[in-house]
Parts: sequence; C-alpha cells; structure tokens
Amino acid sequence: MPELVQSISCPKCGGPLNLTTGEVIVTCPYCGTASRIRGDKPFVLTHSMLAARMDRDGALRAIQGWMEGGVMKPDDLRKASRVTSLECVYLPFYVFEVDATTAYAGVLTRTGTNEKRTGNLRRDYFWKVLGRRSGDFPTREYKLPLGLKVPFDTGGMVRESRFLNAEVDEDEAERLTREDVDGHQRELLKDLVDVIEDARTQVDVKDSEFLHAPIWFSTFEYRGRSYTILLDAASGEVVRGDIPPPSGGFGEFLKGAGRDMFRG
Ligand SMILES: [Zn+2]
Repeated sequence: MPELVQSISCPKCGGPLNLTTGEVIVTCPYCGTASRIRGDKPFVLTHSMLAARMDRDGALRAIQGWMEGGVMKPDDLRKASRVTSLECVYLPFYVFEVDATTAYAGVLTRTGTNEKRTGNLRRDYFWKVLGRRSGDFPTREYKLPLGLKVPFDTGGMVRESRFLNAEVDEDEAERLTREDVDGHQRELLKDLVDVIEDARTQVDVKDSEFLHAPIWFSTFEYRGRSYTILLDAASGEVVRGDIPPPSGGFGEFLKGAGRDMFRG
C-alpha cells in the first residue's frame, strides 16, 4: 500500500482527495478536476485525456494480431503464448509545443578539409514528458495521439483501469523539456558539423498540455518466459512489444544451424 501523506478537499466539488508520497497533481475521483498541491491550497489545473477506443477485448485482439504479424517473430508465437496480465493504466503526460533554434559554430572534418561552419538549426516539437518519476515507460517511442484529446471525464474512462497522479509538476516538466530539447538539438548538430565549437539553443514554449493517456500494460508467457507488451488504448498501436528469441532458445538455434551446414 502506498503511504498516505495528505488528505485535502477538491476545490471544485469538495470531495476528499488522497495523495500519496511524491504526488503533486491529483485528479478528483468524483468530478475529475485536476489540482496542483503546493502548500495547503489546491490550485485547479486544465486537464484533458485521450479517449480510449480499445476495450479489454480489443486489446486482446490487438495483442494476438501483433503476435501473428511481422518478421523476426517465432512462427508459433501466438499459438504457444498465454496472456498472463492485462491492465489499462492512465499515465500523466505533459506535452509542450516548442520552437527551438540553435545557433552553432563548428568544423566539418569528414570531407578531409577543415571547413568552418556556422548556422541556425531550427525545429519545432511536440515534446512529451512523463509525469512519473519511476517506471521505464518508453516515452520517446510513444507517439502520443494529440488529435484524440478530449476534456477529462471520469465517465469516459476504461472500466477497472488504474489511474496514476502526477509526481512532476508543470514547472519541472517545462524545465525538463528545455533541457531535453537542447540535448536533442545538439545530437542533430552532429549531422551538420563534426566538431561543435559553440551551440546556444533558444527554446520558445508556445503551448502546453497536461493530460492522461490510457495504455494497456500486458505480460504474456512464451516457452516458460515472461514478456511485456504496451498498447496505446487510444490509437490502438503497439508502443513496445518484447519479441522472444526464435523458438527453442538461442542455443538450440545455433545447434540447428550447425546441423544444416553439414547435411547431405
Ligand atoms: Zn472534485
């Protein structure tokens, strides 16, 4: 059981809000209002969610479809697998719409001559920040479908889903976005110059969102081992799926290859 550290009232409906350690933004289970807790006064926050289009049966069908399709998967993956857990979790995200401009100076050495290069690298992003501190959710791989955004409504949630409050507030999320975007721009500079002499990134935040996204977390068992698959309940896409090694394990795969080579 998580430790209950604070009990306050929802600023909208007065319902009791229970916070656990580390949580800074709490969503009222009665009216769906999101509040930031700083000091002892809750502050209402604009909040939305992605509409789930995939219920439990839909998620199971999508997992089976994923097991059947695509290269690199064992032929018997669907037949020999058993889904051992399936749970829909609402994860908190911030999305920042930013313009980034990096003024750079550097040297291009790959051509054999040392060419000085200067310029501006301009990009715009919808940058995502997960509002939780732990867990290894693949935030960069996840294509958060902002087009499916609707106002937050507890009545529109997947039944028996789990809900996670945010442990990162919007100020910290913005700081993280600025740092990450700067780091990402520096990565992109490596295509333009081989030696970076100077790089300054200006990040302009144009808009931001706080929202909850429904993700199906599932584990399945295949030949005695457990694997994970994450499904976006809004778009239906697989965010990440563990692919087991060829059936029989890697050792047997090698033995099989050896036999084939000396056959005949
Ligand atoms: Zn409320």
